[in-house]
Amino acid sequence: MNVIQADDVKKYFSHAGYGDEKVKAVDNVSLTVEDGEVVVICGPSGSGKSTFLRCINRIEDHIDHGDILFCDKSIYEIKRTELRKEIGMVFQSYNLFHHLTILDNVILGLVHVLKMNRKEAIDEAMVLLERVGVHDKAKNYPRELSGGQQQRVAICRSLAMKPKLILFDEPTSALDPEMIKEVLDVMRQLAQSGMTMIIVTHEIGFAKEVADRIIFFSDGKIIEQGTPLEIINSPKEKRTENFFRHVIHE
Ligand code: ADP
Repeated sequence: MNVIQADDVKKYFSHAGYGDEKVKAVDNVSLTVEDGEVVVICGPSGSGKSTFLRCINRIEDHIDHGDILFCDKSIYEIKRTELRKEIGMVFQSYNLFHHLTILDNVILGLVHVLKMNRKEAIDEAMVLLERVGVHDKAKNYPRELSGGQQQRVAICRSLAMKPKLILFDEPTSALDPEMIKEVLDVMRQLAQSGMTMIIVTHEIGFAKEVADRIIFFSDGKIIEQGTPLEIINSPKEKRTENFFRHVIHE
């Protein structure tokens, strides 16, 4: 089954000082993501990767053309609150509530969205915090955790909603190298557990190891897609080859 099917999606932005000319952030993007698949999206900065993810869970609530289906139903026919339960998103900055403890950050959705009682929610949250290795920080506040630990809590908060799909938007790009590994380890475990994931990242070693498919974006368009070996080791397009040569030697 396709978890996501994007059909000829276009998302344009108006730009101050450009008159009627629009920025084609996402342009003619069609793709499918199957249940259990791990898809990595790579591409230069400004190529529309983040906008495309934001269209999938309707942070960008309007697209200029096309449709996006989630489990065969248009996302525009699904209530936004429902969609947010089914599609988790982990951002570059962890976006935790700083006035709440780690545990309260994780149980928030369980209590208020899934309507679980507090005791059950705590039990469930503690299992998840243990799974990502930060259960000993349950009573701490976000500022008392490292960036990597906060990002693992953000993943945990997403997982708590039992989503069918998790979108990751450069989840490690704000982290120091040793913390990057911690977060990638959690994501690797998730991939192994069969979670459907769409990941925007520049971590090419990780992508090579974990991705079922890599999609290369440039100028809002899909330039090519294939297995990591096809896309990284023998790309057909010059733009893809240049990008990976540059990223790998960075
Ligand atoms: P990437 O994630 O690949 O770096 P983005 O999706 O962030 O790329 O951006 C794609 C293009 O859309 C860029 O030219 C960016 O400046 C533009 N863009 C993104 N969001 C907005 C916005 N809210 N308003 C205007 N332009 C935007």
